[in-house]
Amino acid sequence: METELLYLKDSYLKTFSASVVRSEGRSLILDRTAFYPGGGGQPCDMGSMVFNSGKTLKVIEVKKMSGEIVHVLDGEPDGTSVNASIDWERRYRLMKLHTSIHLMDGIIRRDFGHGYITGGQIYEDRARVDLDFPELTRELAQKIEASTNEEISKGLEVRVKYISKEEALKIPDIARTKPGRELLERLDEVRIVEIVGLDMQMDGGTHVRDIKEIGNISIVKFENKGSHSKRLEIKVSGT
Ligand SMILES: [Zn+2]
Repeated sequence: METELLYLKDSYLKTFSASVVRSEGRSLILDRTAFYPGGGGQPCDMGSMVFNSGKTLKVIEVKKMSGEIVHVLDGEPDGTSVNASIDWERRYRLMKLHTSIHLMDGIIRRDFGHGYITGGQIYEDRARVDLDFPELTRELAQKIEASTNEEISKGLEVRVKYISKEEALKIPDIARTKPGRELLERLDEVRIVEIVGLDMQMDGGTHVRDIKEIGNISIVKFENKGSHSKRLEIKVSGT
């Protein structure tokens, strides 16, 4: 049975109740969850659960295995239902970093017409962004940082919607990585994250509702990895 993925519809859901489907050792499968299992460069959520037996356990890892979300706990589950909470401080920062990467991608496309982000990884406190952008220098990166912060201060809505594969295939660069394009071929319905007027891409992650929630980004590292390949590290300082 596939787990119902509550975070796809509401990325601000911090607590939820669910029924236990089964458990094995310290691994637990619920009928529904708000815990993000990791993927697309965004790390999994952590948090805690209180079972109807009264037992409380920490969620130390979450992963997706053939349609089911496996919660790895710090002890053996005991009960048939749970009240769970995700570590919101961690998740909210991951959301802000994730939306920041999409925002920078949109700004670079708008201002340079190329320089696409080829990969990224979000960590608890920062994000790494890889670009194929031959002319990117430290100075230019600072300009991108300034334009990104200017957009953030103005604010823009971030929308999540579902469209058909046929519709998605008509949008240029809707999937920007090879695994993304392969996944798109296998889907009937595609989840789109849109920073209204700036960026639109296929995405399974969790994002803020408005870019102004990001607060401020700073580029903390610039690396010249080759004639085409550049790497940036960013941090966010929003509330
Ligand atoms: Zn993304």
